[in-house]
This record gives sequence, structure tokens and C-alpha cells, in this order.
Amino acid sequence: MSISDETTTTERTLIDRVFMLDVHCPLLLKAQYEAAISKSPIYFASLMACCGFIIYCYWGIAPLWLGFIAPLIIYPVCGLWICAWYVLWRGETSHAVIVRRMRHICMSSMLFAAALAVWPTVLTFYGNHDTFIVSVVYFSMGTLCGLVCMTHFRGAIIVVMATCPPLYASMVYFQYKTEVLPLAAIFIILVGVSAWMLLRYCSDFSALTLSQSQMAHQRNELAALSEENDRMANLDALTGLANRRRFFSDMAKRQTDNELAFAIGILDLDGFKPVNDTYGHVLGDEVLKVLAQRLLVICEGRADVYRLGGDEFGIILPGARSSEELSGVADVILDAVRLPIAVNGLQVNLGCTLGYARYPESASTTAQLYERADYALYYAKRNGRGRAVVFNADHEREIREHSIMETTLKSCDMEKEFYLLFQPIVDARSNRTLAFECLARWASPELGQVSPAVFVRVAEQAGVITTLTPVLFAKALAAATAWPEHVRMTFNLSAFDICLPGQAGVLNALVAGSGIAPERIDFELTETAITQNFELARENMRLLREAGSNIALDDFGTGYSSLSHIHRLPLDKIKIDRSFVQDVESNQTSHKIIKSLSALCLDMGLECVAEGVESGVQVRTLAGIGCNMIQGYYFARPMPADEIDGFLARTLPVSSDQPEAVELA
Ligand code: C2E
Ligand code: CA
Ligand code: CA
Repeated sequence: MSISDETTTTERTLIDRVFMLDVHCPLLLKAQYEAAISKSPIYFASLMACCGFIIYCYWGIAPLWLGFIAPLIIYPVCGLWICAWYVLWRGETSHAVIVRRMRHICMSSMLFAAALAVWPTVLTFYGNHDTFIVSVVYFSMGTLCGLVCMTHFRGAIIVVMATCPPLYASMVYFQYKTEVLPLAAIFIILVGVSAWMLLRYCSDFSALTLSQSQMAHQRNELAALSEENDRMANLDALTGLANRRRFFSDMAKRQTDNELAFAIGILDLDGFKPVNDTYGHVLGDEVLKVLAQRLLVICEGRADVYRLGGDEFGIILPGARSSEELSGVADVILDAVRLPIAVNGLQVNLGCTLGYARYPESASTTAQLYERADYALYYAKRNGRGRAVVFNADHEREIREHSIMETTLKSCDMEKEFYLLFQPIVDARSNRTLAFECLARWASPELGQVSPAVFVRVAEQAGVITTLTPVLFAKALAAATAWPEHVRMTFNLSAFDICLPGQAGVLNALVAGSGIAPERIDFELTETAITQNFELARENMRLLREAGSNIALDDFGTGYSSLSHIHRLPLDKIKIDRSFVQDVESNQTSHKIIKSLSALCLDMGLECVAEGVESGVQVRTLAGIGCNMIQGYYFARPMPADEIDGFLARTLPVSSDQPEAVELA
């Protein structure tokens, strides 16, 4: 609101003009009004005292009606005005009412002042020289009181000055002609000087009030601006939900408010990244907006919803919540997210995974609480997405173990403690070993034997994976130099490797220095690794392929929208995940998926490897649907380098002995 906004359209009347009332400046008028009514009791009290003094002086000199009865009217009038102005009119009121009252104050004050000036003038006709002096004192006091009371009205000062002193001067002149003129002149000069000073004061008062109002207005504007900034800083611009910052500040607020318990949830969309990659960010944004609204509606009364960034949302649930309750809320959320989303004529189907943590059960600080919920989310994703996991004591223990492992890993001798095992990939038709996959192992003097499923993630978290990978890769290359020329080597890269600028160069240099043809090498990558930073991953993949190596997509089928990746990435091979293979002989769906994938790979000129094959039935079933490259315990478990020669010797190609195909009904 600006100063001009505060002015009103009140019409200026004659009274306003005469008394110079600033009816178009509410703040100034209000200040004048408040100053006037706050002084009214002193003003009226001093007038009543002056009157009493005059009555006393003219007692027995002037007629009773003039000396006593007439002034008696002054007392109830003063009393009434004190009541009306001081008692009733104080406090907040509208500008229109203030305008009306100010006009009333000006008019009534002027009439009252005139009446009070006429009365002693008439009285002087009855008195003597002494009583005249008394009336001079009365008049001076009254005028001064009036002026002081009206200090804040320029117009009122001018009106009082224009009426009272001339009236008094004419009274003196008619009574005494030139006899007391010097006295009157002094009086008029004194009153004039006081009036001039008051007028100056009045201007200062107006200027001060206006500057104060301007400052107040600026303060209000600043406050409004900072409120708006605050609101924007806590709001997610895309979805309109509260943002990550607000999520943390709300958590902290609950904690400092000593709220006994609450729970938070981190919700991660499954399958959103491919939607974004395939249809573009504009459509991705629309999808997020729709989901944000859905979450808001279904969480109303249950939880507060936030967008934490990307495809991650947060919820805060007040009060102590049992795992069952949290699962109940999660079910509602999961169902809502799974409903198809129609945007721009397309239908998008997504899922989501949720990680919960409870305060104060799982953490004592908000940062820790968030970490715990994030861990639960990670745990849920790792063990099958599309569900909710509540952080518990097992996770706590796992975190502790990981932290110990992280410290050990950072200070360990990688060259000495890490080694590789090799698992063959066999052509089921010829029994020929096509390649060995290099699988890392850690024999830690402190922790014992650690599985790569555990230490790879810890190494990623600790930021040492990009140092560990070249160490392992050098070992793999060294081992592969002993293998026959036709046997390839496949090596696993982590998400961090493939998204690290320069890492492809490091790996290519190691290959170049090893004497092994880059064409014999396959780098295995998971979809999740690639989608972490699609562009960087693609660039590193391009550099590896340019040098002659091949790229295989590992664990195929466990990620999302895999087909879109096959289409968009520079791939040579696909490894179908063990989860499809393990029941391929009995599950129609797995069977159909592998069959279609084999056909697709054939169509696109890609090789297709089935992982985790454990039985002859599986081998035959896979062969029946055209998938002949097999890796798994059926042929061999991962073995040390010195067993490779023996294995190759035992499994010489038997081209005529093709496995019998098994077809599902
Ligand atoms: P992966 O790349 O999918 O490797 C295959 C895993 O399945 C290996 O586990 C292997 O021992 C196991 N496996 C092979 N055949 C069968 C089977 O018939 N049945 C069953 N149940 N399992 C089978 P491993 O060696 O524990 O490796 C686990 C994961 O650790 C690997 O999964 C890979 O993602 C990662 N990894 C292993 N070595 C490295 C490495 O050098 N670098 C990176 N970044 N990751 C590695
Ligand atoms: Ca692999
Ligand atoms: Ca795999």
C-alpha cells in the first residue's frame, strides 16, 4: 500500500478549507485528531478555571445573569465535550469518522471560542480598571489554551488568531480608546509570536508525521517483500508444494517445539527418469505437477507434503506412528501414484518407493533423521521397489557396519587386499567358453572376506570406487593376458566410474598398456548407473567404444523402461538378470520376456547373455528360445585365476552335442 493509496476520495468542504484539514491524508489527520482529543481535558479544565476566576472577580459588579448564570452554561458544555472527545472518541476508528469528528471539533471550537471571547468583552462594560486587567488575563489564558490545544491544526491557529485578537483589540478600543493601547499591542504581539511559533511547530509536526508514515509504509512494504521472499524461498516453483528448505525447517521446528514424536517419509518415483529422457522435460514437469496435486489431496489431514527436488517428495506425519500406520499411509500413496497419468495426450504409468524414519526413535537430529529415511528408501529400492520401508534396528546396525567398513576401506592396501575371481560365460550350443566375467573380492585383515555386493556400495559412498576400479581393472588385464586369444574379458563398472569425466581415458590407457586388444574387453554397466547422469555416461561409453571395447548392459530388466535405453545407448550386449532366468522353465512371463528379448537382440545385432543359470533345464529352456550365451553356477562358480586353465581344458568345445531345447507349453 502506498501513501497515495491511503488517501481517500473524501470531498473537501468549506470547513476543511478554512481549517486546512488534510482530509486526503489519513495518517496526518489521524495524528492531528489524536493530538487534539488527548489534550482536550487540559484545555477544557483550564477554560473552566479561567471562567471561575472571572465569576469571582465580577461577583457583585456585573448583573447576575451576565456574571454568574451565563458562564454556568460553560461548565456542562466543557464537561460534555471532555466526555465526548476524550472518553468516547479515543481508540481506533475509520478515516471517514475521523474526518467527521475533526470537522465537528473545528466548528464547535470556533463557536465556543467566539462565545468565550464575547462574554468577557461584554463584562468589561460593567467593570473597572482592575476587572479589565482580569479579563485581559482571562482572554490571554483562554487564547493561549486554545492555541496550544489546536497546535496541530494550522487552520485552527489561523482562525483563532484572525478572530480573537481583533475582537479583543476592538473591545479595548471601544472601552478605553487609546488609553491601554500599548498594553493591547504588547498582548497582540505576544500572541502573534506564539501563534507564529505554533505554526512552525505545526508544520514540523505535519512533516514528522508524514515522514513517519512514509517510514511505516516503507517498513510495511519491506515486511511484505520479505514475507513474499520467505514464501518463495520455501516454495517449489514447479509444483507449488513446500520445498526441501521448508521440509528441513519444518522438521527442525517440530524438534525445537519439543514435539514428542513425528515421522518423515522420502518418496522416490520409479520410472520417472525414462519418462523425462524419452518425452522431454516439459512433459516430465507436467507429470510432476499432476503427482504433486495427487499427493496433496491424498495426504490432506494425514501428512504435509514437500517436493525435495527432481522426482523426490517428502512427507511429515505428526505424532507417534506405528509401522502399521506408516504402511497404511504408504499404501494410499503408492496406489495414488500408480494410477495412470494423462498428460499432453499421453498416458504415463509410474510407481514409487518410500523410506520412513521416526523421530526420536530413529534419530536425534533432523539431518540424521533425513539420512535414516534416505537409507530406508535405498533399502526399499535395493530389495524390490514399489513399497515402503520403515527404518529399523537392523538398518541401524548395517549403517554402523558400513561406517566401520568405510574407514577400513579408506586406509586399506587395495593392491594387496583386493583380488578377482572369474566366472565363465559359455556358449551352450558348443560348450565353448566365450569370456570370463571378473568379479572382485576383498579379503580384509580387519573385516575378513567382504562381498562386492557390500563393498562396492561402501566404496561408492566413501568416494574410493574410482581409485579401486583402476586397481581391479589392472589386475583383470594382467590375468587376461594368460587366456587364449578367443576368450574375452568382461569387467564391471560402477555408476561413479561411468559418470566420472576422464575415467574412460584412464581405463583406455590401462588397456593400451596391457597388450590386450580392446576388442576382447566388455565393460558391464547397469541401467541405474547410466541413468544417474545419462549424458556423461553416454560420453564415457562412446570413448570406451571408440577405443575398441564393447559395452554390455548388466542386470537387464531390473531397471525401468529398459527398452528405451537399448534404443538410445551405444550397446553391444545385454545380460538378462538372474531374476528372469531363475524360473524361466516354470514361469510363463519370465519365459516370454526372455524369448522377446532374445528376438529383439537378434534384430538389433546385440549379443544376449542369460545370467545366474543354475540347472540343465534352464540351459535347455534358454536354448529353446534362442538364448545360448550362458553364465551361472551350472557351468562354474566364480574361480581364481589359477583355475582357469584347468576349467578351459575340462570344457573343450563339443560342437555336435547341443543341449536339448525345452519349450514351455
Ligand atoms: P553381477 O555383475 O550381476 O555379477 C554376477 C553375480 O552373480 C556375482 O556375484 C556372481 O557370483 C553371481 N552369480 C553368478 N552365477 C550365479 C548363479 O548361478 N546363481 C547365483 N545365485 N548367483 C550367481 P558377486 O561376485 O557377489 O558380485 C555381485 C555384484 O557385485 C556383481 O553383480 C557386480 O554388480 C558387483 N561387482 C562384482 N565385481 C565388481 C567389480 O569389480 N566392480 C564393480 N563395480 N562391481 C563389481
Ligand atoms: Ca556383471
Ligand atoms: Ca548381472
